[in-house]
Amino acid sequence: MLHRIRGLLGSDLAIDLGTANTLISVVGEGLVLNEPSVVAVEEGTSRILAGGRAVGHLARQMQGKTPQSIAVVRPLGDGVIQDFKLCEAMLRYFLRKAQGSGWHGRPRVLVAVPGCITPVEKRAVFNSTQRAGAREVLVISEGQAAAIGAGLPVAEPVASMICDIGGGTTEVAVLSLGETVAQQSIRVGGDAMDRAIVEYLRRHYALRVAPMAAEALRISIGSAAPLANELSEDVRGVDAISRLPRKATITSEEVREALAVPLAQIVDAIKATLDDCSTEMVADLIDGGMVLAGGGALLPGLAEFLGDQTGLPARLCGDPLTAVARGTSICLQNLARWRGVMLSSDDEV
Ligand code: ADP
Ligand code: MG
Repeated sequence: MLHRIRGLLGSDLAIDLGTANTLISVVGEGLVLNEPSVVAVEEGTSRILAGGRAVGHLARQMQGKTPQSIAVVRPLGDGVIQDFKLCEAMLRYFLRKAQGSGWHGRPRVLVAVPGCITPVEKRAVFNSTQRAGAREVLVISEGQAAAIGAGLPVAEPVASMICDIGGGTTEVAVLSLGETVAQQSIRVGGDAMDRAIVEYLRRHYALRVAPMAAEALRISIGSAAPLANELSEDVRGVDAISRLPRKATITSEEVREALAVPLAQIVDAIKATLDDCSTEMVADLIDGGMVLAGGGALLPGLAEFLGDQTGLPARLCGDPLTAVARGTSICLQNLARWRGVMLSSDDEV
């Protein structure tokens, strides 16, 4: 009976609405959707191509290879909603896909959002999620969700630190007794790293490359600490002066040099978070270290680099790309326990 009533009300969904990737879990089913946060539209409009289906994987395939009349856009940038209409359309599409076919009610939805969003931006998340079909919307900060997903003892009277490096933002949070005691959220992540590589290649090689090419270079030969065997790879672009296509061979040392500024900004965010912690908490952190999550944390040598720079031992959590989604889903399954401390609802914004 209870099951039927719940079915009528719609299932509970947990969403990690990331700048780069959106992940959705359904309570009782686990992770059901993991797609890039992109949509393909007719240039200059918000009309989504392929009858509204050019979202996620399909839109990503079109990226960088579309005629001028088509634009592949990310509704989120720097961790927040940049284009409300498109974000709503993308969410509606993902929500429908996550719930499968057949009739279903309006779900209750828990969304993970960056800690740095303003009340106006938070309201936009509520509105978009509601208009995309949710019955009730709750939000949790990505830092908290990542810490829970990474299995940190967030409810215990001991301080733990999480550093979640996504596409648009990096979230650093220290948690104890279920609450966030210190946090920093900066608009630096994989995208800022890619912009730094684009800028480096323009300056040192007079080569213009697409952000996607910079990302590919970062993923294949990027690192934060010296590699045992340094690597090199060709990158294709357009000569900034002759405007002719050209290749250049880039080394992993050069990519590391290009990444110095965004990496230093992440170090600063960690230090600023430590500044807000009591000496007792810092003592806990020296023992427990910090845990890294998010796709940006997959940069080789990052744990070693951050450990050196901050004095806190750092380690990567298991499957960093799904940590926020896992934590959000755990929270949703234990709503009663977390509601008072970690979640905020519509009427609190
Ligand atoms: P968001 O939460 O913003 O959606 P994610 O946590 O999904 O971000 O991480 C996306 C970022 O992770 C992108 O910048 C991507 O380049 C980066 N990334 C994904 N896989 C790897 C990898 N193997 N090595 C380095 N970076 C990676
Ligand atoms: Mg994320």
